[in-house]
Amino acid sequence: MSLSALPQWQFSSEQGERNYLQALREYPAQIIVDLATLRDNMRHLVNVVNQEGGPTQVMGVVKADAYGHGLIPTALAALAGGATWLGVAQAREALALRAAGIGVDRARILTWVNNPLRAPYEELIEQDVDLSVATMTALHRIEQAARAVGKPARVHIKVDTGFGRNGFTLEQIDEAIDALLPLAQEGVFEIVGQWSHLAVADAPDVSEFVDETDTQIATFEEFTERLNARGITPQIRHLANTAATLSRPQIHYDLVRPGVALYGYEADPAMGTPSQYQLKPAMTLQAQLSSVKTVDAGEGLSYGRVYVTDKRTSAAIIPVGYADGIHRSASGFNELGAKHVNKLGGPVRVMTADGAKIMHVSGRVCMDQFIIDLHDDAERLNVHIGDTVELFGPGRGADYLEPNADDWAQAADTISYEIFTCLRNRIPHLYLNAYETLSDEDIAKLDQSTLL
Ligand SMILES: *Cc1c(COP(=O)(O)O)cnc(C)c1O
Repeated sequence: MSLSALPQWQFSSEQGERNYLQALREYPAQIIVDLATLRDNMRHLVNVVNQEGGPTQVMGVVKADAYGHGLIPTALAALAGGATWLGVAQAREALALRAAGIGVDRARILTWVNNPLRAPYEELIEQDVDLSVATMTALHRIEQAARAVGKPARVHIKVDTGFGRNGFTLEQIDEAIDALLPLAQEGVFEIVGQWSHLAVADAPDVSEFVDETDTQIATFEEFTERLNARGITPQIRHLANTAATLSRPQIHYDLVRPGVALYGYEADPAMGTPSQYQLKPAMTLQAQLSSVKTVDAGEGLSYGRVYVTDKRTSAAIIPVGYADGIHRSASGFNELGAKHVNKLGGPVRVMTADGAKIMHVSGRVCMDQFIIDLHDDAERLNVHIGDTVELFGPGRGADYLEPNADDWAQAADTISYEIFTCLRNRIPHLYLNAYETLSDEDIAKLDQSTLL
């Protein structure tokens, strides 16, 4: 019997268990996403924004394949939790949501990143996808597309309040209004929204950044005044990402756009931990050991000998690497190997005869694998080939010794977002609690072989 660092998964049926075993045959690592957790996180966000006043709608931001969690299953779970909007960067993702059968009766969809010269605006308008207008080029192209299709384009005017990325600046807004007004009057454009994005809302502990967010909010209001003065009154104003949704109720406006909170994380560990916000990480990444062996003292592990064993020990191989999206910057260095550098690698939960232990990436992360020093004899620890180890999961607290994506982010000097969006689709994605979370009709929209 192989040991597992995880509790036994609860399968919905024998077919669910067969799907799991098939995934183990296909690949030595699996991403397991709990759809009930995604739904509950969304439900919580809907409650948060409707506590003080409201009504405020919530957009589930599902760009980048739902931050690596899987676009369609995540979108459906977000809708089950009360989201009424879905947000994606790329046009193809918006079209994929509609093609999966998520109609306007279920969700408005907004898309905001493209090459305006080539974007499939006609198809987007036909499919009732809302469009961000951030440049005059996009404005003209969307106008052409709306005329060609013979249907008004639903647009959200993007304004740059200090992020320095997309959107009309205060200097450009009059030119935009000059072009927008006649199109709105003619019915070529339906001006639905005014929106912008915050740069530093995730640093409530840095007063300079709090001031900067205040300035962005004031600028957002100034844009509204400028639009209103010219007779443009967008019905839906939206500004808040996760950080502002959780910490700035005064700028929830008509709609909020949380991304990372849906997946169960706060925007920055400086804001606290997921549980402080009643959020729970939905993704677990597990893998099965491909080799366990004894190595002598003084042996280098992996490329570059940046980690050298300090005693006779056992080393285990975890068969995922940077080609799977495991950051090479989460490599582990020790003084024997890397001289003056001592840096813990990414954490891995391993089940042993002495209970669960956290081991760390030892040496450099390779393309398809990395090594962990078990710091003991594997036989004594009862660690064997085929055992399931956990790279990260919901993070059930210090006593339980379970890493989450924030821990990997710290080891890799990045943010949790990059930990899960970088995971490659070659790792099978499996879904827990689909039957408990989704209607039969929605279940039918999913790849049945992915359901546990
Ligand atoms: C990604 C994104 C969001 C969500 O950001 P989180 O920090 O994940 O909540 C919201 N709005 C825009 C425009 C985005 O690009």
